[in-house]
Amino acid sequence: PFDVLVVGGGPSGATASVYAARKGIRTGIVAERFGGQVLDTMAIENFTSVSYTEGPKFAAELENQVRQYDVDIMNTQRGAHITRDDATGMITVELASGAALQSRTVVVSTGARWRSMDVPGEAEYRNKGVTYCPHCDGPLFKGKRVAVIGGGNSGVEAAIDLAGIVSHVTLIEFDSELRADEVLQRKLRSLPNVDILVSAMTTEVLGDGGKVTGLSYKNRVTDESHSVELDGVFVQIGLLPNTEWLEGTLDLSPRGEIVVDEAGRTSLAGVFAAGDCTTVPFKQIVVAAGAGATAALSAFDHLIRTDVP
Ligand code: FAD
Repeated sequence: PFDVLVVGGGPSGATASVYAARKGIRTGIVAERFGGQVLDTMAIENFTSVSYTEGPKFAAELENQVRQYDVDIMNTQRGAHITRDDATGMITVELASGAALQSRTVVVSTGARWRSMDVPGEAEYRNKGVTYCPHCDGPLFKGKRVAVIGGGNSGVEAAIDLAGIVSHVTLIEFDSELRADEVLQRKLRSLPNVDILVSAMTTEVLGDGGKVTGLSYKNRVTDESHSVELDGVFVQIGLLPNTEWLEGTLDLSPRGEIVVDEAGRTSLAGVFAAGDCTTVPFKQIVVAAGAGATAALSAFDHLIRTDVP
C-alpha cells in the first residue's frame, strides 16, 4: 500500500505529491488529466517568482518536478470511490477502471470546473475575450469595456473589482434581481462606470473571428433582443467542484465543496483535501499549491502518530 495517495494532478495534487515524496514515504498520484485547469490557461502572471508563463508550460513543469521524485504517477485514471476500513484505518480508492489502490492516507485534490453559458461564440472566443477568472485576466482589459455574466456574489465581486481596472462594466443577470449580498450590491450601485441589466439572457458572444467584439442578450420581460459592444466577457455563473464521486463519503458543503479545516483534514480520518475542490475561499494556483503542501504535511503528521496497520 501507499503511505500517501494523491487523487488529482493539478497544482495542489502535484505539490502534495512532491511534499510527501520528500519525506521518503511511498507516494502515488492518480490524475484524470495531469496538469488540471492550468492546461486550459493562457498567460499566468500571478504565481510569484514566475513573472510570466503559459498554462501548458506550467503544467509540464509541474509534471517534471514530480518525476524527479519516486512518485508512482497514474495518469488518465479517475477516482470513483473512497472507503476506509475502521478496524485497520486502511483507505481504499477504487478507480473507474475497476482497479483498487490502498493507502494509509489520501489527499483529494480533484479541483473544479467553471460552469459555462453554453451559447454560440463562448467556446470559440474562450481566452480571446471570454474568460472565467477576474483575478487572472482583469489586467488584460485595462481601459476596455467588459461584461460580467452573473449577479451572485462572485459576479458582483468581479464587477466591483473590474470597475477599478477597466473603463466600463455591464453586469448581466438572468433573474429579475441580483442575488449577491446587499453590501456588495450597494457598493456596485455606487460605482459610476457600471450598468446593471436584470432579466437579461445572454444569447451569443459576438466576435470578429479573432476576438470578442460584443454580446447579444434578450430582455426576458419584453422579449426584445439587444447587443452591447465589448472587449471582454467574464462568465461568473458558478464553479463546480469535481466531488460528485465523494458524495456520501466526505462531508461536502451545500455547493459540493469538501469541508476542510485549516490543516486540510476532511470528515474522514486519514483523508485530507486541498485546492479548488475544497471550501477554501479563493481558487488560485498559488493558493491551491499552498493547500497541497499543507495537506501532505498533515498526512505525514497523521502517519507518524498512527500505528502501522
Ligand atoms: P485543478 O487544476 O482543477 O486540478 C484537478 C486535477 O484533478 C486534474 O488533474 C483533474 O484531471 C483531476 N481530477 C478531477 N477529477 C478526478 C477524479 N475523479 N479522479 C482523478 N483525478 C481527477 N489561477 C491563477 O492563480 N492564475 C491564473 O492566471 C489562472 N488562470 C486561469 C485560467 C483559466 C482558463 C482557468 C480555468 C483557471 C485559472 N486559474 C488561474 C485557476 C487555477 O487554474 C486553479 O485555481 C488551480 O488550477 C486549482 O488547482 P487544483 O490542483 O486545486 O485543481
